[in-house]
Amino acid sequence: ARVASSAMPLYRETVSAPSGASIGISVRVPPDALARAWTQCMLTYLPVALLASVLLGLGAYRLQASRRSFREQLRRAMRAGEFHVYYQPVYGQASDRCEGVEALMRWDCPGVGPVRPDIFIAAAEAEGMIVELTRHLLTLVERDVGAWSMPPGFHVGVNLAAEHVSSDQLLSDIRAFVASIAAGRPQVVLEITERSLIADDNGQARRNIDALRAEGVLVAIDDFGTGHCSFSYLQRFPVDYLKIDKGFVQAIGPAGEEAPILDAIIALAHRLGLAVVAEGVETQLQFDYLKARGVTFLQGYFLARPMSATEFARWYAGQQA
Ligand code: C2E
Ligand code: CA
Ligand code: CA
Repeated sequence: ARVASSAMPLYRETVSAPSGASIGISVRVPPDALARAWTQCMLTYLPVALLASVLLGLGAYRLQASRRSFREQLRRAMRAGEFHVYYQPVYGQASDRCEGVEALMRWDCPGVGPVRPDIFIAAAEAEGMIVELTRHLLTLVERDVGAWSMPPGFHVGVNLAAEHVSSDQLLSDIRAFVASIAAGRPQVVLEITERSLIADDNGQARRNIDALRAEGVLVAIDDFGTGHCSFSYLQRFPVDYLKIDKGFVQAIGPAGEEAPILDAIIALAHRLGLAVVAEGVETQLQFDYLKARGVTFLQGYFLARPMSATEFARWYAGQQA
């Protein structure tokens, strides 16, 4: 159809027919009809688009605000002294006594009660707060350990997140910690997870660990066997201990059934010249099984539960008596 010559071109195409002739198709529309169609379109969709973007913006803002408020809440909790440290004895099988502790963070949030450490630690990691929180933990441990009197070489283990292990602040943080508790000459043990080894893209974690080990700090791979560690990492990344996850220890059945994976990990550690720490030892049977296989350190409710710094000092004195 022919329309006024002022009509706007909307679509044009030339098709060639099998006979060789070409057919031109062109669609034109009068400008006022085009404007009307656009206005119609805008009136229908613009409010929807506006509403969607307002909702999206609001969502992003609330997410941002809740993250900020979580970070602020953690900082406030640190200032208010809501965090404290529990210590779980680590038993040395050669000496048949407590040879160290693992520091485990606790948060008593007023009005909420105790917050589970795996929950708030994971949240602190996700929100970029774990380094700050670990520094706070180190100051709390410094204070607690300073009030104890332990024999030289007593192990003080702290857990480190992968982000901290590969940060350039690790060396100064740990050196300051070691220096501040040096009076009692304890042995500092850093518990790092397999994730720290895998996430070490630029080799910073490896350099940090090598430097600290050269200065006498010991390093344990925590929760060994639960991550995605390939054994080749162990060859490339020298450490001192493998800490076997409690899941493998709990595979020792109530009637002392064999735990083949556990046995294999212990054998592997021995072949690599690494000492083994077993955690989550809950029964006499598990204790005997691990002892019989030459596990160097044992830890778990069977031996002692995590306790506050003062409870631990009292418990330790009782053990010595
Ligand atoms: P983890 O490092 O594997 O710590 C051992 C956990 O096992 C502790 O739980 C301890 O209370 C528990 N446990 C000890 N003996 C037994 C036992 O015989 N049976 C059983 N079923 N459990 C036992 P907790 O204190 O709840 O800590 C949970 C996790 O939170 C820790 O696991 C660690 O990954 C993390 N965490 C705690 N404190 C810190 C910290 O200061 N820094 C970092 N980065 N992580 C921490
Ligand atoms: Ca640990
Ligand atoms: Ca563990």
